[in-house]
Amino acid sequence: MNRLIVVSNRVAPTQRGRTSTGGLAVALLAALKENGGIWLGWSGEVTAAPARAPKMVTVGQITYATLDLSQKEYTDYYNGFANSSLWPLFHYRLDLSVFSRQFFDTYQRVNARFAAALVPLLKPGDIIWIHDYHLMMMADALRRGGVKQPIGFFLHTPFPAHQILTALPRDKTLIRALLAYDLIGFQTEGDLVEFHDYILHEAGGELLDDNRVRAFRRTARAQVFPISIDTNNVANLAQQSQRSRRNTRLKESLGGRDLIVGVDRLDYSKGLVERFHAFEHLLQRYNDLRNRVVLMQIAPPSRADVAEYMEIRRTLETAAGHINGRFAEFDWVPVRYLNKSFSHRALMGFFRTARVGLVTPLRDGMNLVAKEYIAAQSPRNPGVLVLSRFAGAAQELTSALIVNPFDIEDVADALQKALKMPLEERRERWRSAMDVLRRNDVTAWREKFVEVLRKSHTRHNRA
Ligand code: UDP
Repeated sequence: MNRLIVVSNRVAPTQRGRTSTGGLAVALLAALKENGGIWLGWSGEVTAAPARAPKMVTVGQITYATLDLSQKEYTDYYNGFANSSLWPLFHYRLDLSVFSRQFFDTYQRVNARFAAALVPLLKPGDIIWIHDYHLMMMADALRRGGVKQPIGFFLHTPFPAHQILTALPRDKTLIRALLAYDLIGFQTEGDLVEFHDYILHEAGGELLDDNRVRAFRRTARAQVFPISIDTNNVANLAQQSQRSRRNTRLKESLGGRDLIVGVDRLDYSKGLVERFHAFEHLLQRYNDLRNRVVLMQIAPPSRADVAEYMEIRRTLETAAGHINGRFAEFDWVPVRYLNKSFSHRALMGFFRTARVGLVTPLRDGMNLVAKEYIAAQSPRNPGVLVLSRFAGAAQELTSALIVNPFDIEDVADALQKALKMPLEERRERWRSAMDVLRRNDVTAWREKFVEVLRKSHTRHNRA
């Protein structure tokens, strides 16, 4: 079996018991444990003069190789190009995107630095799998460094409409570098269509047979691989933790009321402000639900030194305070807003207790929480998923109550319907969603990507 070399901006925590909050981390750890290999990424540290060679730690089958960033790299690559240019742009927030040549140059340099650190660690027969929008230009640098092994890329975020992407200065340089990958993986058909549109209408390229595209004198395969979860593991965790002390306390605190749960990084793409408005509308419109339902929104802060993230945090605190001020009774607080993270185990228990899983991003590559909510349900008495049509997960979880997160009334009505849904309908919808998650779990996702990558390795992209 070939070694798998994974590269992503951050590597998962190496110490046991630490909480990781990114979907990427949660999904990839499960994938790497089986194949063994190397995981290279940023250490999370910012140092004055970062070493060129990565720090190496081996845990079981996995070697973690981590690099520090300089202050400039942290500001211009991580907070800058990745999180202030690409992230908002890829989530259709042109209004929040900030562009600067300095950001782009540093991004290119960090991609090249990651590539230079990886080259000496590689062996013939390795398969290289690079993740996400932070590292779109890394294959280009690896090829220039003489790497001949297959290199795949998976984009965890949406790929934006081509008209939106053209707002990015030097978009063509970015996409030309992307085409140095042998395989480019997207979450949904919609993302792939947008990518094709860019190739055809902006890059002057063409679509070839066998899922290949050609532009800028490069050929790459582009395909859809919807990421998933460790379905059985989630189901087991949820079952085990339903009787935990924490879950017992949660149930007692509800006093027989129904729980609606939301779990999202504190990010403007997650639609949290609109979600709070929808919950407020629910309480206003359906009188009988007052004092009968609680919204528990878990929102661990992320990217806290990017201005837009400070802003959304303030807005949400105000919105939660406003709803509670308006509706709370001496024995009932409608919104529990928790600005911290929980372990996976704790969350899966919460999901099982919740009557409704509320997942309403304005744009999301996939949204693993939606899938976890389904997998965590009791087969005998499952809850209902209310899911944004703009989450990648909506393409697969079609039996959820699919909503437009911009339409506050639509979301409020779906919540009401979910809370009143008869057991038989809940079971039917859950079974259908669970079938999808049993067929496409994270292992199937990993195997399929690696299999196609192995086949896609093409001569013309070699240096
Ligand atoms: N998560 C967690 N603890 C938390 C919040 C989230 O373990 O306090 C996990 C969650 O269960 C899911 C992942 O983080 O597996 C979030 O992935 P998702 O695709 O929903 O969103 P992302 O954060 O990647 O945008």
